[in-house]
Amino acid sequence: MKKEFDTVVVGGGASGLTAAVFAARMGCSVLVLEQKEKLCKKIYATGNGKCNFTNKDWQASYFRGSDFSLAEPVLRSFDLEDTLAFFKEIGVYPKERNGYFYPASEQAASVAESLSREARRLGVECLTGVKVSRVYKEQKSSKGTAHAETRESCTENAGIFVVETDNGKFFGKSLVLATGGKASPAHGSDGSGYPFAKSFGHTVIPPLPAIVQLKAEGKFFKTLAGVRTDGRVTLHIGKDIYAEEGELLFAAYGISGIPVMQVSRYASVALYEKKNVTAELDLFPALEEGALAQEIARRFRLMKDNTAEEALAGLCNHKLNYVMLQQCGLEPTKKAGAYGKKEASALAEIVKHFTVKITDTNGFEQAQACTGGVPLTELTESMESKLVSGLFITGELADIDGTCGGYNLQWAWSSGAAAGKKIGGTYASHSTVETKH
Ligand SMILES: Cc1cc2nc3c(=O)[nH]c(=O)nc-3n(C[C@H](O)[C@H](O)[C@H](O)COP(=O)(O)OP(=O)(O)OC[C@H]3O[C@@H](n4cnc5c(N)ncnc54)[C@H](O)[C@@H]3O)c2cc1C
Repeated sequence: MKKEFDTVVVGGGASGLTAAVFAARMGCSVLVLEQKEKLCKKIYATGNGKCNFTNKDWQASYFRGSDFSLAEPVLRSFDLEDTLAFFKEIGVYPKERNGYFYPASEQAASVAESLSREARRLGVECLTGVKVSRVYKEQKSSKGTAHAETRESCTENAGIFVVETDNGKFFGKSLVLATGGKASPAHGSDGSGYPFAKSFGHTVIPPLPAIVQLKAEGKFFKTLAGVRTDGRVTLHIGKDIYAEEGELLFAAYGISGIPVMQVSRYASVALYEKKNVTAELDLFPALEEGALAQEIARRFRLMKDNTAEEALAGLCNHKLNYVMLQQCGLEPTKKAGAYGKKEASALAEIVKHFTVKITDTNGFEQAQACTGGVPLTELTESMESKLVSGLFITGELADIDGTCGGYNLQWAWSSGAAAGKKIGGTYASHSTVETKH
């Protein structure tokens, strides 16, 4: 097998394959090295198997990181229109639901397979089941060394990247680190890219779980496990607040659901910095506190001979009603008539501002993304290293994480395309390849 390429891509996931496709379209010889048994393993699991691959509502503020404003030019260089056009071109017809884009097939496999097929169609060599263990750059290609004949096409000054794997060494005029971060290691992103980036002199901001469930204090969580309810979560970290609304999900360990996942990265960072984090839950957003108090008082009056718990039936989930009464110091089995306006107001306050202490997040195994990575200040808008020319860092390995809604994949496509195009324009040894099918 050929050992030397215009570019070697470490990681056959979302950003790596995108980089590979764009570099190959511009005439580069490309090798993708993927440690898992198949390409794009994570993509198959995205969006609950449907792959929410981008979003109509597209703003830089949906992306977080130490220098998230630097993500904007990268995202603009391959934006929503480009993303939809690209996927249509390779066979993925998009379907929009409330601004969220999925493949019309509603199968994440369509995205993974179309991308892999396009890479292979363009002649990209994809080696799966091959783990990269070390990467470095040899500055001079002096004739007479063991690899001299494999490096004929490299310019003397540019140097060459050496990629060591459990299946031998490979060489690239350029190198893309697209290993992902540490979220969901079962899909291959096991954090192995961080030491590679560090070995080239890059900073790595410690990765932490993002888009993840939150663990909270309280014995009542065991009772509430499995309860789903519309609500609002407001995270309090010192004077900072982060709020989201949607379906909340209770678990024995704490809280989950989309709104919780959306704010979780702030809890992750704050807990890492040993700050206090509390989550205030509004468990009945449909009514203002005063109106809710009146409704509860009305029920206490109307159903005075029933238990307090029975009087609340049909308001919140019955398990929530029970726990809220207890948290308020009211006895669920006592006659509702024993309680009046004062208790109703106290209960409404608890339901609207139920506050729990966040103790931890779930681990990387459950996280859908991670914070941290290589800061964008160390990369150009083409995702090229400012420290080592020809080295590119894409996707989650860079310090950008998006909110739920297709933004993490959008970052993967945009950063991958930016790198691939720059590589194509700089290192291609052949002419441009036909992109139309
Ligand atoms: C369950 C789940 C659901 C998600 N759903 C969505 C969604 O619907 N929408 C959305 O926008 N985002 C979603 N995401 C996030 C999104 O999938 C990631 O942000 C995105 O895949 C990151 O792309 P990447 O190229 O940086 O890394 P990855 O896609 O993780 O790819 C990295 C690849 O590198 C390989 N690799 C790592 N180290 C080595 C090595 N040493 N040698 C060889 N290969 C290596 C890995 O095996 C992996 O295949 C989801 C994530 C998860 C876990």
